[in-house]
Parts: sequence; structure tokens; C-alpha cells
Amino acid sequence: MIKAIVGANWGDEGKGKITDILAENADIVVRFQGGSNAGHTIINKYGKFAMHQLPSGVFHENIVNIIGTGMAFNVPYFKKELDYLNERGIKNPKILISDRVELLMPYHILLDEYEEERLSSKQYGSTKSGIAPFYSDKYAKIGIRITDLFDEQLLMEKLENVCAIKNALIVNLYHKEPLDPKALFEEIKGYKDIVEPYLENTAVYLNKAVKEGKTVLMEGQLGALKDPDHGIYPYTTSSSVLAGFASIGAGIPPKEITDVIAITKAYSSAVGAGPFVSEIFGEEAQILRDRGGDAGEYGATTGRPRRMGYFDCVATRYGCMLQGATQVVLTAIDVLGYMDEIPVCVAYDIDGEITRDFPHTDMLSKAKPVLKRLPGWKCDVRGIKKYEDLPENAKKYVEFIEKEIEAPITIVSNGPKREEIIYR
Ligand code: GDP
Repeated sequence: MIKAIVGANWGDEGKGKITDILAENADIVVRFQGGSNAGHTIINKYGKFAMHQLPSGVFHENIVNIIGTGMAFNVPYFKKELDYLNERGIKNPKILISDRVELLMPYHILLDEYEEERLSSKQYGSTKSGIAPFYSDKYAKIGIRITDLFDEQLLMEKLENVCAIKNALIVNLYHKEPLDPKALFEEIKGYKDIVEPYLENTAVYLNKAVKEGKTVLMEGQLGALKDPDHGIYPYTTSSSVLAGFASIGAGIPPKEITDVIAITKAYSSAVGAGPFVSEIFGEEAQILRDRGGDAGEYGATTGRPRRMGYFDCVATRYGCMLQGATQVVLTAIDVLGYMDEIPVCVAYDIDGEITRDFPHTDMLSKAKPVLKRLPGWKCDVRGIKKYEDLPENAKKYVEFIEKEIEAPITIVSNGPKREEIIYR
């Protein structure tokens, strides 16, 4: 059986914690897209971890963690995360890397930086992890596949070709030093020793596992509104973050994904540029940011303060629809305990027209939130174990949101720790 854990919003919904919990009963955890550009925060018996590229199952000894073909695989980062885990007591996690995954190259990161510099005030808020240049190259078919590392002549030829293309941009548009294919070759030739022990035909491995009845978790990164097709393009990421894409990025039949668990937070937050209809500002935003999560609302990868907003029913219903959510986890309900009244965005006003359907980006930029104010519960709900024991207004809040997003909320998370979880 395959379950997907995916974001219903802009990312940072708390997927890491939920994956870590659900991994307990899983055999395999798979990352199917993205790279080290977003992080999951996981707090467990080993401490607090910010995971970027490795699947969240690495903390469980019996779980096989798969780097799927759909990912942007950064080898030095992989090594860094392995070493970091090792230093903190997680020795030799079981990892398999797809033998078809492509490498995120040093020049992808450079090109990301140069482009953001060129765009200056018009930048999209890239994390400068090289993700957009990576996927551009993949689909332009000039990517470097992981197995290219094992054929030095082929690798050198590919690097010469790619450097010729990149240097036209680097020299003429960005006015920077050109890439040297030989230097690049020297820089990456050692990668093969790092990855060799982990290489596997992961699609075949996974399909066999599914036939044998193993439980597989597909771990999404970011959230539906960052999807390049359906999200707030161009303020999106560059690979699909939808559960449907898990089938492609991992290589398993779509019909096998029978449970899609969409994660949404009890309020909104986002990093990067782009329209954010229910955004709040100033002191009001700062209070929510500081209360949000143990570490405050600062991105796990970039440390950037997140933009804050009220819960957005329009965006979340759309996110759950795109993900095909069979169930929803509402996280961070504990954060709202200080508010007298909790506004939620129930519709958008676009030039006087009221809509509940999430529009394309240009329309979205004009949208104003239509707010409904729900009564707060004014107490700390951390430590509560049963849904019935939540304050009446907290239950009403959950039930209101559930109705608006048109998907069942089966789990409520009331704190960052593993045990702070309420099953309904
Ligand atoms: P992900 O990318 O979706 O995994 O989200 P992040 O890990 O970047 O962000 C979620 C943040 O919220 C982390 O700091 C978590 O520790 C924290 N978190 C997760 N669930 C809860 C919750 O129920 N309450 C609170 N207060 N924090 C939570």
C-alpha cells in the first residue's frame, strides 16, 4: 500500500513531523521530487533535525529510504547530511538512490545566484539551491545522470557540451567567469565513490515491494500552491509537488497511491515572493511568527522569516483538491491559543466579484480576502491527547475548516513534538 504525505499550502505545513510519525509503520519512505531547497523539521528521541534531501525515514532502523528519479540530487549535500546524522548517533541509515536520478551540479547553484542577482528587485525569492536551472537542464536533455559518473569519457564529453552552452550565458549575460569543464570534472569525479554503495534500480525495487504488500510512504516537499502547473507560477518551484507526481518521480503505478494525506497548518505562512491573499503584516504578523513552531516561523533551509497570514480556505480547498486528499492533518493548532478572535479567509473578492475558487496568478494578485471571524479558545492546548478534550471553540475551528476545505481532518497536531498529536 502506498500513502503520500503532501502539502496543501505553500510548504512548511509540518509534513516532516507527520512523515516521521507515519514512518513508524512503513517499510519504505520515498522522496520523489525536489532537492535540498526545502527542509523538514523533525523532533525525535535523537533531538531536533532539519532534513533537506534525505527522506524522513532515516531515523528508523528498519526503513529503506529512497531517493527517487524525480529528485534533483546534490551529492555534496547528501554526504553532508549523512555525516550530520552520523555525528548525532544515526549510523548507517538504509538508503537507496535511483540509478536514473540526475545530479544537481555546482553550476546550477551558480546560475541560480547569477539569475537572482540579475533580476534584483524582481526576483522570485529562489532559495538559490539550483533547482530551476537543474530541472531546465533535465527537460532540455543536457542533464548529468548519476551513472555518467562511472564513464569518465562520456562525463567529460557531456561537461564540455554543457559548459559551452552555459558559458554563453555566464559570460555574455551575467558577465562572470566562464566554467572550465576540466576543473568541473576534477570537482565531481569523486562523487562516484560517495554514491556507489547506494545505487539501485529503484522503480523495480519499489514495484516489487508493493507487490509483496510493503507499506510505502511518498514524502512530498513544499505544497500544492508551489506546483509549477497548478500553483502560483512563476512563484513556484520547478518540479511537481503533487501526489500524482509521486507516481512519476518514484516509478510506481498511480492506482497504487490509495491514501493521500494532505497537511495544512491552522494558519498560513509562506516563504518567497508572490501573491498571498490572507497575508498579515507588522506587529500582528510578528506575534504569530514568534509563536509559530518552537523555532519560530523561520524557514528550515534558508532561515528566512516566513510571511504570515490567516488560514485560507480558498487556497487550502484548492490544494486538497489538487492533491486528491483522502485525509487532512491540521497542524500547529496550539499556536493560535493567544487570539481572542481568529479570522479565516473564506472567499476572495476580485474587483467586486466574490469567488471560492482559487484563480490564476494574475487574478490572484488582485484578490482581497473575505474574512470570517471565529471565536478563539484563549488557552494552551498542548498536552491534550483526545479530540473531545479540546476546548469547544478549538473543535469548532477544526470543524469549520473541515467543512470549508471539503476533506476530512483526521489528525490534529497540537505541538511540534512527536507525541503532540490527536487522532479523531
Ligand atoms: P515541512 O516542510 O512541511 O515539514 O514543515 P517544516 O518542518 O518546515 O515546518 C513546520 C514547523 O512547525 C517545524 O518547526 C515543526 O517543528 C513545527 N510543527 C509541526 N507541527 C507542529 C504543531 O502541531 N505545533 C507547533 N507549534 N509546531 C509544529
